Amino acid sequence: MASKHIVIGIDLGGTKISTALVESDGKIIAQDYRKTMAAEGQQAVIERILNSARQVMSQAKVTRSQVAAVGICAPGPLDIEAGVVVAPPNLPGWERVPLKQLIEDNLGITTFLENDANAAALSEHRFGAGRGVEHMIYITVSTGIGGGLILDGKLYHGASGMAGEVGHITIEPGGPLCGCGNRGCLEALASGTAIARVARERVAQNVPTLMTDMTDGDPERITARLVAEAAGQGDKVANEILTKAMDYLGIGMANLVNLFNPQLIVIGGGLTNIGERLFGPVRQAIEQHALRAAAQAVRVAPADLGDNVGVLGAAAVAQSRIG
Ligand SMILES: [Zn+2]
Repeated sequence: MASKHIVIGIDLGGTKISTALVESDGKIIAQDYRKTMAAEGQQAVIERILNSARQVMSQAKVTRSQVAAVGICAPGPLDIEAGVVVAPPNLPGWERVPLKQLIEDNLGITTFLENDANAAALSEHRFGAGRGVEHMIYITVSTGIGGGLILDGKLYHGASGMAGEVGHITIEPGGPLCGCGNRGCLEALASGTAIARVARERVAQNVPTLMTDMTDGDPERITARLVAEAAGQGDKVANEILTKAMDYLGIGMANLVNLFNPQLIVIGGGLTNIGERLFGPVRQAIEQHALRAAAQAVRVAPADLGDNVGVLGAAAVAQSRIG
């Protein structure tokens, strides 16, 4: 086994750190999970990241000289080229942390940093639903909406690493406030958080809906999953909320189809658990709003890699940078 084929992928999230030793074909040969415990502060989290990487090497009896590179993905905003984590909302206290340098200094292995949505795009492209495709858009729909662009077979970063921020394209001027400060972003209209927020408003307004009983009248217990369940049971209010959100998602995707003329849109994230209630409206909106030749060229498919998308994405980042 040639050493250049082994990389370490690290998926740093707000709640957990997932690390794997990965071969060039995406085969995971050792894996480690641990809690981020972000509240304990930056130093403790970095120590856990390093220990997690050491753990996968020792599990597989691989020495650091056999590892070609480390890829780490983290929530944005990041300075990718400098390898700096700027100030992610879910890693409190992190201010311009030179994560790439810290890992290189401690492990002695070349390290590359990437934002989590871009890494996931690369992951699905290399190992998942997008294998063999040249032009692909990846989006993840869960509490937020993120995305990454694979253009001409390569991850596209744009001028300052912000390309593919699909969640923050404006869909409804003057619409609901988004976490980014803008109004009417796709994320503020079609994410799980957005769906739950609208449903809570309806329940709080005493609009007749199954969701009131399903939560014992406590709007705080409403999640996007519960809205989907209520819609599945024929609840009109839940159905309207979900349909509207997925129409917005579809319009966002139709715009991307016109902009990038992709062969494939891969959709991942927790909200895809609702299946055709998400994919149906997206396909329909593309049909309805995108230019015919672009709409005919694109397929919409669910993501393939499940929970390993992040860690394999981090590995894919390392592999793509070392060539
Ligand atoms: Zn936004």
